[in-house]
Amino acid sequence: MHRKETHRRFDRRSFLATTGGIAAGATLSTLPRLARAGGSAKFAWPYTLGVASGDPLSDAVVIWTRLAPAPQDPGGGMPSEPQPVCWEVARDEHFHRIECSGETLAWPEQGHSVHVDVRGLDAARTYWYRFTAGGHQSPIGRTRTAPRAHHADRLRFAFASCQHFETGYYTAYQHMAEEDLDLVVFLGDYMYEGVPNPNGVRSHTGLAEPLSVDDYRARYANYRSDQHLQRAHALFPWIVTFDDHEVDNNWSADIPQDPDLQSTEAFLARRAAAFQAYYEHMPLRRFSRAQGSSIQLYRRLGYGGLAKFHVLDTRQFRSVTTPCGYGNGPDCPAQLDPTRTMLGDEQDAWLLDGLHRSRARWNILAQQVPFGFVDVGQGEQVETRHDKWDAYPTARQRVLDFMLEQRPGHPVVITGDLHNAWVQVAHADPRDPESTPLASEFVGTSITSGGDGTDQTATAPVVLAKNPQVLFNSNRRGYVSCLVTPELWRSDFRAVPYVSTEGAPVSTIASYVLENGNPVPYLD
Ligand code: FE
Ligand code: CA
Repeated sequence: MHRKETHRRFDRRSFLATTGGIAAGATLSTLPRLARAGGSAKFAWPYTLGVASGDPLSDAVVIWTRLAPAPQDPGGGMPSEPQPVCWEVARDEHFHRIECSGETLAWPEQGHSVHVDVRGLDAARTYWYRFTAGGHQSPIGRTRTAPRAHHADRLRFAFASCQHFETGYYTAYQHMAEEDLDLVVFLGDYMYEGVPNPNGVRSHTGLAEPLSVDDYRARYANYRSDQHLQRAHALFPWIVTFDDHEVDNNWSADIPQDPDLQSTEAFLARRAAAFQAYYEHMPLRRFSRAQGSSIQLYRRLGYGGLAKFHVLDTRQFRSVTTPCGYGNGPDCPAQLDPTRTMLGDEQDAWLLDGLHRSRARWNILAQQVPFGFVDVGQGEQVETRHDKWDAYPTARQRVLDFMLEQRPGHPVVITGDLHNAWVQVAHADPRDPESTPLASEFVGTSITSGGDGTDQTATAPVVLAKNPQVLFNSNRRGYVSCLVTPELWRSDFRAVPYVSTEGAPVSTIASYVLENGNPVPYLD
């Protein structure tokens, strides 16, 4: 193979793809020279937030870093001009066999973040990558492409959510890093926007709630300073989506948690700042770049013929959460409004169309809030959680009706949000466990949110007794490690006994197995 020719063609194409044009002051001919020379500006070692990769395809993966010598400062400690950055992708960790390389620019408007959509890679292959900017070389990241269609007999991935920083240590990531994974899925609450708890188990540099882009950048910098989190990013490609706390607790569409305290305009400005900082810190493709107060986060990623990830956004387009309040409560007639939506009309149609077209053995709905019905009432009365899919029954029924009629490849919902783990099944009539089971659901726990935890959630004995479609609960911190083959899916619930101090051991507290085509899992 004429590696050199491929390399040259590659550089130019990927340069154009990643920068989307040339700014004043930099031309295509001067840029590579600047980067090779180590840049014209002097700045300190800029890789304080590590490196990351994400959204793997069979021939491409996004590699990420952000130049920020002083990530807590406005401007990140960088000169206010765009900076040239070299990137290299190699077939070995010593960079003897460079697969491709190129130059891009890190823009101050994008927090000097770098998102390179590296194309032309081999399928199902491990690669190593690094960056050079201002004469500084980054740590090395490792990533892996997805297999081609019809080529996949095994997928190993972990999913996680909810990593409140001052509540605990990210020991779960320390253990995740020891696993042999193809990718990691993160389901929301990457950071928490609230005022930090001064009595938390570890200290936080932020003091107030973030409102501006600089505020949100500083909050991400705080979270991403964690070495276990950095390592998990550097070892595996991540597929990410957000929930509420990346913006504002309990927000829905253009409505903040406290509409009495914040106008729609003010909230949309805040949402724009939050989305901007989110994109800057995540290994997302260019189409997920924040556009004002909008972001395109729902997307599909295939894994051969084995699995398809339908990554959902259940926040940006949902009908208002509040007609019945945020907490748990009895049935509320306002929720039965057939116009209520969790995904918005466009995403609804996109999901059903994608399920219809998918030929994958497993259709994974990677999303935020619990999908299946759960009666959480502690007495005789039925009560549900008023900010989950249970509060959008007509929207959920559209998905379930479609699944009953079209029978797409085994739907598995993976969910964050609750801070404790559940295994449950969604039925054709969600409230009738005798009706046809259609989708399996694994609710992961949290990395830290909720603190050390207990073996079981206090309300779980009653919930498990009242809901035959709910099979398991745990209130330990950790993540879920999944092994997927054409015939079987195994979810290992990996848990640590404490997060308030470092160094907790990890164990598998339960393993649930699915046989492809039967939505009801069994305990292994
Ligand atoms: Fe959370
Ligand atoms: Ca949440």
